[in-house]
Amino acid sequence: MLVDLHSHLEGRVRPETAAELARAAGIADPAGGWGQAIRLDAPADLTVYLRKVASTYPLFHSRDAIARIAREAVEDAAAAGLDYLELRFGPVTHARAGLRVEDVIAAVAEGMTDGSRATGMPSGAVVAALRHHDADVNVALARSAASFAGRGVVGFDLAGDELLYPALEPHQPAFAIARAAGLGITCHAAEAGPALAARQAAELLGATRIGHGAHILDDPQVLAWAAESGIVVEVCPTSNWYTGAIADVRDHPAPDFRDAGVRLVLGDDNPMQTGSDLRGEREVLTGTLGWTEADLAELDRVSIAAAFLEPGTREALTRALERT
Ligand SMILES: [Zn+2]
Repeated sequence: MLVDLHSHLEGRVRPETAAELARAAGIADPAGGWGQAIRLDAPADLTVYLRKVASTYPLFHSRDAIARIAREAVEDAAAAGLDYLELRFGPVTHARAGLRVEDVIAAVAEGMTDGSRATGMPSGAVVAALRHHDADVNVALARSAASFAGRGVVGFDLAGDELLYPALEPHQPAFAIARAAGLGITCHAAEAGPALAARQAAELLGATRIGHGAHILDDPQVLAWAAESGIVVEVCPTSNWYTGAIADVRDHPAPDFRDAGVRLVLGDDNPMQTGSDLRGEREVLTGTLGWTEADLAELDRVSIAAAFLEPGTREALTRALERT
C-alpha cells in the first residue's frame, strides 16, 4: 500500500509544466532549463535543496496555474500507484497582488479535487503556516484554511526555519482555530531543532504528527514520551539525505524509531528534487534500512490510522489493505 503523508506541492512541479507556465507568464527560463533548476543530481545541503524547491515559486502565479500544478501532482501520484496523497503547501508564499491567500487555497483544493475525480485516488490538502510569519498572518491563514475544511483541506502544518524561529507559542492561536475546524495537525519539528521541540509541538499546538522529528532520538526521555504518547513521526529518508541532515541514507533513524516503538508513516517530501517518490522511499526502507514485510504492514496500518482522512475514505483504505 502506498500512502504518502509528507509531500510538498512545491516539490512536485513537472519541469515541462514549469516551462509552459513560465512562458505564459513571461518568466525567463533559468540557465540550463527547468529540469536542472528543479532537480538535484546528488545529495547537497539544505540551502541548495531549498533553492531548488523555491525555483518553482514564481510559477504559482495565477489560480489556473496553481490548480494545474495541484491537479498534475495528484495525477502523477495516481499514475505511480499511490493509494492516498496528502499534499502540503504554503499559501502565503504564493499570494500576491490579485491572488489572495484564499484564492491560492481554493486553486489547490480545486486542482486536487479534479485530479482525484479523474483518477479515483483520494487526496487531501494540508495548509502550511510558516514559522517566520507573524502570528496575525498565521491566524488569518488558519481562518482561511478552516473555511475549506470538508472542501479539500484536511490539515494544518507549521514549516520553516526551526533554528531561527523555534518559538511555538506565537502560533498557538492559529492552531487553535485549525483544530476547532476539525483539521488534522502536523508540525515540522525536531528536524533541525532539539528533541523537546517535538513534544512541545504536541503539547502547545496539538500536533498528532511530527514532520521528520529526527532529533527525537537525541533525548531518551523524549523518545520514551514519543513511544508512549502514540505521536506519529513522518519520515522522509532520501529527503533527509539530500538536505545533508544525514551523511548517508543508511544513517537514517527510521530503524531506531521502529525499535523504540514510535509510530511511523512515510513521505517523499519533495520528489522532484530528490528523484525518489513514495515507492522509492519504501524501497529505501526495505532495501537499505532492513525493513521487513511485517514492518511495512505496521507502517500501512499506522498510515491509514494517522492520515487526515474523511471517515469513508479511511474505511475504504482499510478494506484495500485487508485485500493486499
Ligand atoms: Zn516537509
